[in-house]
Formats: sequence, C-alpha cells, structure tokens
Amino acid sequence: MERRQFLRQAGATLAVASTGGLAACVRQPVKSAIATGDRLSAGGAALAPIRASVDRITGVYVCTRPFRAEGPRIEMQKLGGKTIVHNYGHGGSGWSLSWGSGTLALQMAQSTGTHELGVIGCGAIGLTTALLAQQAGLSVRIYAKALPPDVFSMRASGLWTPDSRICDAAHAAGFADRWETMTRISYARFQSLLGLPGKPIEWIDGYSLADAPFGSFHGEVSDEPAYGEFADRVRDLTPRSVELAPGSHPFPEPYVRRYTTLMFNISSYANLLMSEYLAAGGKIEIREFTHADELQQLPERTLVNATGYGARALFNDESLIPVRGQTARLIPQPEVTYGLRLKDISVVPRSDGIMVQVIGDSGNFNNPDLTPRRADSEAAVRELADLMANMRHS
Ligand SMILES: Cc1cc2nc3c(=O)[nH]c(=O)nc-3n(C[C@H](O)[C@H](O)[C@H](O)COP(=O)(O)OP(=O)(O)OC[C@H]3O[C@@H](n4cnc5c(N)ncnc54)[C@H](O)[C@@H]3O)c2cc1C
Repeated sequence: MERRQFLRQAGATLAVASTGGLAACVRQPVKSAIATGDRLSAGGAALAPIRASVDRITGVYVCTRPFRAEGPRIEMQKLGGKTIVHNYGHGGSGWSLSWGSGTLALQMAQSTGTHELGVIGCGAIGLTTALLAQQAGLSVRIYAKALPPDVFSMRASGLWTPDSRICDAAHAAGFADRWETMTRISYARFQSLLGLPGKPIEWIDGYSLADAPFGSFHGEVSDEPAYGEFADRVRDLTPRSVELAPGSHPFPEPYVRRYTTLMFNISSYANLLMSEYLAAGGKIEIREFTHADELQQLPERTLVNATGYGARALFNDESLIPVRGQTARLIPQPEVTYGLRLKDISVVPRSDGIMVQVIGDSGNFNNPDLTPRRADSEAAVRELADLMANMRHS
C-alpha cells in the first residue's frame, strides 16, 4: 500500500520534473551509465549506480528491535547471591548507543568491587560492555546461547541512529540526559575506530529524496507510538544536511538533501570486537538460560544482563516490545559509497552488502514474527532499480 503510494508519488514527481522548470538542464537517462559503469554526480560528488535487481539479493534478514517505552533498562538488581546489572532494551539504537550504555553498566558493576564479571549475551551490547570491562582491568566471561553472526545485532542496518525507537515521547523528558550522555560517549568511541583495516566504522554521505518539501514528513508509522526525539541535543556532533538545488543532482525527485553520517560495517566491526575480546583473554561459554534462577549457578557474583529481546522471557519483562524489521542484502559494490533514504526505503552501502530496508511500513510493532517476507524485499529492490533507471546524467 505504502509502496504503491510511493510509486504514484514518484511518478507524479517525474511528470512534474519533465514539464516544469526542474527539467531546465537537459539530462540523459542513466540506463547507459549503468551499462558503462559511468558515475553520476550529486552536488559535485560522484555516485556509482547501484546494480539493484532481485537476483543480486544474497539474503533477507528479520530481527526484532528490543523496545521499551521508558528507554533501555540500565540498572542494578539483587537476585539471590548475585548482583545483576541490566543492560537491554535499546530499540533501534543498540549499535549506536552501545559504548555509552556499556559505560553506564560497567560503572554499576564496578560499584560492587568485583574483579570478575559475567556478561550474559554477545550482541552489540554484551560485546561492547565486555570490552569496556576488560579495558578497566576486569576478567570477563561471556555466556550466550549464540554468538555473531547468529545474533539479532548482526541483522541491523548499520547506521548511527542513537534515537531510533529508543523510548516513547511520553518518557522522553525523563530519559533525555541519560540518552545524551550515552550518545556522546559512543560517538567519541566511534571516532577512535575510524580508518582501521576493514573499515569497521566510516563516515558516508547519503541522499534523502522527497517529492514534497522536507519538514512535512517525519517518518511516523501509523500503528507505532510517537517516539522520543533527541537529535537537537547533539546537533554539534554531525554535519548539517544540505539541500541540493534541482539540476545539481541526478535524482528524479524534486527535493534532495545530502546528509553525512556514521556507518557501521557490521561484519567487519563485529569481527573486530570479537577478536579484541578474545585477544585480551576474554572467555566465552555457549549456554542458554531458561530461567533467571539459573544465573545463581555461575561463578561470577556480578553479572551484566545483555540479552536484548531475550530478557523478555528470561526476566519476565513484558515492557520489552518486539518491533520487527527486515533488510535485504545485495551483492557488495565497493564503488557505491552513498546511502539513500526514500519515503519507504533506506539503502546503506555497507562493505558486506548493500542493505535495502523497507521503512515506514505498518504491522511491525509488537510483532515477534521472524519469518522473512521475501516479496516485500523484492518489491523494495525493484523500487530501487526503478530509481536507478530514472537517474540522469548531469
Ligand atoms: C531492522 C533493524 C535495523 C536496525 N538498525 C540499526 C542501526 O542502523 N543502528 C543501530 O544502532 N541499531 C539498529 N538496530 C537495533 C539494534 O540491532 C539493536 O538495538 C541491537 O542489536 C540490540 O543488541 P543486543 O546486544 O541488546 O541484542 P542481541 O543482538 O539480540 O544480543 C542478545 C544476546 O543475548 C543472547 N541471549 C538472549 N537470550 C538468552 C538466554 N536466554 N540465554 C543465553 N543467552 C541469551 C543472544 O544469544 C545474544 O548473544 C536495528 C534493528 C533492526 C531490527
């Protein structure tokens, strides 16, 4: 439905562009650019065409964002002879907030005076918390039922999105200071991870495309709550987006903005985190807990609970709501270095594959269904192919 709407709107945009002043400069369709490998230019930056076709999809992945209306649970709990430091419920922001959230959790763990820490979970949150603890001189053992690449974190899009589905609007004021602390700590850490072999973290440019002036659409999803928005608190961290004048870019849409953001090449990044953890003597035990009481059997007296959505069952936390998300991965194209954001698609040019994600669709909130809907992803890739076919030479 929304996809059809988008195509209608995109069609209308093309009609406007071909009849109105937007078509002032004569441009050639891009089909020949795809065939010859030419680059298109946007505001001076060269853009390689994306080879979007459904036969280049290498996988369709589904995961659930672990959302809590009041924000992530980062707090201590005494349970029998153990101190549990909870660190879960990061919604659509787990990678982005991981270092800041881990720092807060570690401070709590250290307040017990422990030198040995057990971390339950080996996703974005568990791994970063474990690394921070090692760097603080603690001896760490991770317990997890699954490791990367078989954890939900590996199915994320890979963008700096620190306030994506992180709390609802009603809880935003009470959570804002903590959010800003976590965001600034994480951001600083990511700067130290730039320029490394395999580019685990890099800055990219991307283009938001719209057929109506920006500001009239905020990305709300009809059946999801209003979420807390905090971007204004950290405006100083990332460059401002820049509106591109019609004719200065190859896109058919009349409104185009260039944004600049951090991207996580998740395969390479998770590999780096795992390698660092193991190189520093970190231990891993594959183990699934079916009840929180089983944690009493572990030797460590202080434990960090970084089980993500798994915490809902393990700690009976019904405030943890699954928000389903699906991405498709296309064969990597190292020459494609830009992201795209359309009304209902997001494209992330990761080194392990070009991620194409349907966004803005309904039916995902409180939906734990992990069954891939390939037809949805194929439709998104076809839309992307359509866009590529309608891009123009400058
Ligand atoms: C489609 C999509 C796109 C996203 N894109 C982004 C993005 O671009 N940027 C961003 O910052 N975030 C993004 N996110 C959010 C991010 O993926 C999550 O916030 C993050 O993965 C949560 O990490 P985690 O470590 O808490 O959970 P997980 O990755 O789920 O890790 C949980 C760990 O705990 C273990 N575990 C769970 N239960 C048990 C148990 N009972 N016993 C033993 N072990 C257990 C698991 O095996 C695993 O090791 C996205 C999410 C989705 C769904």
